[in-house]
Amino acid sequence: MAPFRSLSANELQARRDKLIAALDAIRAEKLGLDLTRGKPAPDQLDLSMAMDSILDGFYLLQDGTDVRNYGGLRGIPEARAFGAEILGASPDQVLAGGPSSLTLMYNYVHFAMHFGASRFGEKSIGEKGVDGSGQSWRSEAQAAGSNIKFLCPVPGYDRHFAICELMDIDMINVPVIEGGPDMDQVEALIDADPLIKGIWCVPKYSNPTGHTYSSATVKRLAALSKRAGPNFRVIWDNAYVVHHLSADEDQLASVYTAADEAGTADSVISFASTSKITYAGAGISFMAASEANLAPFEAFLGVQMVGFDKVNQLRHVRFLKDKETLAQHMQAHRRLLEPKFEMVQSVLTRELAGKDIATWTDPQGGYFVSLDTQPGVAGATVALAESVGVKLTPAGATFPHGRDPEDKNIRIAPTFPSIDELAKALSVLTVCLQLSTIDHLLASS
Ligand code: PLP
Repeated sequence: MAPFRSLSANELQARRDKLIAALDAIRAEKLGLDLTRGKPAPDQLDLSMAMDSILDGFYLLQDGTDVRNYGGLRGIPEARAFGAEILGASPDQVLAGGPSSLTLMYNYVHFAMHFGASRFGEKSIGEKGVDGSGQSWRSEAQAAGSNIKFLCPVPGYDRHFAICELMDIDMINVPVIEGGPDMDQVEALIDADPLIKGIWCVPKYSNPTGHTYSSATVKRLAALSKRAGPNFRVIWDNAYVVHHLSADEDQLASVYTAADEAGTADSVISFASTSKITYAGAGISFMAASEANLAPFEAFLGVQMVGFDKVNQLRHVRFLKDKETLAQHMQAHRRLLEPKFEMVQSVLTRELAGKDIATWTDPQGGYFVSLDTQPGVAGATVALAESVGVKLTPAGATFPHGRDPEDKNIRIAPTFPSIDELAKALSVLTVCLQLSTIDHLLASS
């Protein structure tokens, strides 16, 4: 198949006519397909049905605590130990929370932005703030007369960016390259700007590219606060840490080991959840951090709640039990998901290979495939697909403020639809992509 760019205007027009006919046929089907969000499919949720009745009237922990009652803001010890296994942290560094790790991330950024540790008195780390000097990020911003900033590896997770947007944290795009964020750029930006206070990281099977960070990148990220100052935080969102799609699992180096070696343990705050292990709407979440971070954060949470849902935490640990049981459970997810991810590769390759109009990732885990069109084509493709009944994640959503400077990234979320719906939606996507590319080429010729 010849690259589109090498075709004459007449050849492109001939192709366009065929694609328009295909699109008309698709429109007549009155489709209603949705590839927007990375949700588990119903058959994946069914894998955890046994959890519902697992407590069977037994609500007591090993230490006699009745999980139905108030208390225990850091979560039940059993859940903390389980979270520690997932995150590779030690149990005393882990807080087990409610159904959403995003809620914990939001709360952490809110806490660091507006309060810092010193606000929480004796329960905190004394008179020290989140930066060891008593300052919230907001007070630093006020002193500088300018917003603080976060580095945002792109494409990335839209809800991370939404947190920054709401908190008036300026966002700086950093490209994700093989092995993770472009660390030369990250370090140069930090060296040049003391108001950079954080970086969002999805280190394993990243959303949406599927990249896993290399050991060298983990090491450099863990050491960043030595350049950026003690008030800098690496937000380590390990949402897909156990979500393999292949027997050939990606290996992620331990950020805690790297931080311990660099003497920066207080700068790393990590997160995970069981949203895509058990129930996306009723899982449990985890946060791991040093005691200097956890103590004041717990005090901050204590103002808004007495404790998370410990009954659900207990259900989860009774059901998922240990690393081996978890691994088997994730294998069952993989059996359901692998054919869908293979379908993405096969349709994209069949329809687009050789045309030189798009590149896409082939992840070994996680929930997404990231597709790059020619610059200036993604938005038109997504709009066209929606006009014929296939909803895709809005173009630009994977960038801060929803603005993809090159208008080329499309996030494909293949998990939720059935395999037949997925195949149909993907073939519609490829028709829309080809048509939008041809229109772009014709308009710029
Ligand atoms: N972090 C990333 C990178 C995600 O992709 C998602 C969901 O898509 C989440 C966090 C949300 O996790 P939770 O359901 O635990 O809030």
